[in-house]
Amino acid sequence: MTSYTVINPATAEPVTEVHLASLEETDALVERAHAAFPAWRAMAPGERAALLRRFASVVDAHIEELAEIEVRNAGHTWGNATWEAGNVRDCLNYYSATPERLFGRQIPVPGGIDVTFHEPLGVVGIIVPWNFPMPIMAWGMAPALAAGNTVVLKPAELTPLTAIRIGELALEAGLPEGVLTVIPGKGSVVGERFVTHPLVRKVAFTGSTAVGKRIMAGCAEQVKRCTLELGGKSANVIFADADLAKAAASAPYAVFDNAGQDCCARSRILVERPAYDEFLGLLETAVKNMAVLDPQDRSSEMGPLISAQQREVVQGYLEGVDVAFTGSAPDGNGFWVPPTVVLAESTDQPVWREEVFGPVVAVLPFDDEAEAVAMANDTEYGLSGSIFTGDVGRALRVARGIEAGNLSVNSNSAVRYWTPFGGFKQSGLGRELGPDAPNAFTEEKNVFIADGS
Ligand code: NDP
Repeated sequence: MTSYTVINPATAEPVTEVHLASLEETDALVERAHAAFPAWRAMAPGERAALLRRFASVVDAHIEELAEIEVRNAGHTWGNATWEAGNVRDCLNYYSATPERLFGRQIPVPGGIDVTFHEPLGVVGIIVPWNFPMPIMAWGMAPALAAGNTVVLKPAELTPLTAIRIGELALEAGLPEGVLTVIPGKGSVVGERFVTHPLVRKVAFTGSTAVGKRIMAGCAEQVKRCTLELGGKSANVIFADADLAKAAASAPYAVFDNAGQDCCARSRILVERPAYDEFLGLLETAVKNMAVLDPQDRSSEMGPLISAQQREVVQGYLEGVDVAFTGSAPDGNGFWVPPTVVLAESTDQPVWREEVFGPVVAVLPFDDEAEAVAMANDTEYGLSGSIFTGDVGRALRVARGIEAGNLSVNSNSAVRYWTPFGGFKQSGLGRELGPDAPNAFTEEKNVFIADGS
C-alpha cells in the first residue's frame, strides 16, 4: 500500500497520511462510476437539480471546516480559503439550474424537423492541481455532474484533503454512490489512467503546460475529449493616464495572491514610461505593507509556497536578477519567499518569459500603446491580464489587441463563475465556467423527424 504524507507548508510539519490509489483500485472506481451513470443520467432533471442544491447547502454548512483544512494543507490564508470553499458552494448552486435548462434546438429542414439534444458523455475524469484545490475541483465537477455525467476526480498529491472531504459531503447530501468519486493518487498512475481508460470519455485537466501537452497527446489515441487549463505569464499594463494609486495598490494582490501560485498571476508589469518612477514608488509602499504571515493568523494576506521544491524553483529565478525591493516573510521552517519586485533587464530573461509560480513580479517600461500590446503578446501564453487607463477607447483597443482569454480593465479580477474562463495559445484548450460550461460535458445529437411529405 502506498501512502503520501501531507505537509503543512507554513511549518513543514506532517499533517496526515493519505492512501494513494493503485491502478487496479482506479480501474475499479472508474467501473463503479460507469455503473452509476445510467441512473444519474435518467434521473428527472428537477431531482438532479435538487440534489446539487442540497450538495451546495451541505458544503455551505462546512465552509469553516473546509477552510481550516486548506489553511493547513495548502498554506492558504483564511480569507482565501474561506472564499474558495464558498466558491464550491456557489458553483454547485449556479450549475444546479442546468439540468432543467439543458435545451436543444429545433431546426426546420426539408421534409420534416430536426431536434437536437445535449447528451452527457458518461464518466468524466477531472485532474486538479495543488494551487486552488477547491475552486478548480468545483469548476469541472459542478457543470459535469449537472449535465448528467458521473465524475472521477484526482486531486493533486500535495493537496488532497479538501477534495476528500467534499467527496464525503456529496454522499452526505444524498448523491448516489459512484456519481462523484475522489481518487487520491499519483498523476503518473491515476491521472494517466483517466487518459487511457476507455470508459473515461473526457479529461478536464488543470496544471502545467508540459503535462497538459502529454494529456492532449494521450487523449488523441482514443479521440477523447479534453479541456486544458494551463500556465500563464500575464501582463498588467499601466498607462500614464490611469489612476496610478489604485493600480499600484491592487498590483501586489494581482500577482502575490496565493503566493503567486496562480495561473492568472499578473507576473509582468508594463508601465508607460512617464509614469514609471511614480508607479514604482507607489508599488514599493503597497508591497511593503502586505501582511505575509503564517496563515493561521487570520490577518495574513500571503502565505508560504506549497513545497520546498517549489521554493527552490522560485529562488532559481531570482539568481542574478536586479531586485528592486521585497516585502517581508516569516522566518522558520515553512516554504517562505517574500514578495519580490524585479527590474527586468530584457524581455529575454527567464523571469520575464517563464511562469515562475511564486511571489515574483518583473517590471519594464513601454513607450506607446502599440509597444505595450506587442510586449504583452510576446509570450507563448495567453491566459489573463489587466489594463489600467482613464481612456475607455484605449482600454477597448488594447483589450482587443492582447491575445488572452480573460482580461480586466481598471481591475485585477480574474475568474468569475458567470463568465467563460480559459486560455489562448499554450494557456489551454476549451473554456470552463460561464453559462455554456455544461455543454462542454455533452455531445450534441440531432434527430430528424420526417413529416411524411
Ligand atoms: P502538474 O501539471 O504536474 O500537476 C497538475 C496535476 O496533474 C496534478 O494532479 C498531478 O498529479 C497531475 N499529473 C501529473 N502528471 C500527470 C500525468 N502524466 N498524467 C495525468 N496527470 C498528471 O503540475 P506541478 O504540480 O508539477 O507544478 C509544476 C508547474 O506547473 C508549476 O510550477 C506551475 O508553473 C505549473 N502549474 C500550473 C497550474 C495552473 O493552474 N495552470 C497549476 C499547477 C501547476 P500529482 O500531484 O500526483 O503530480
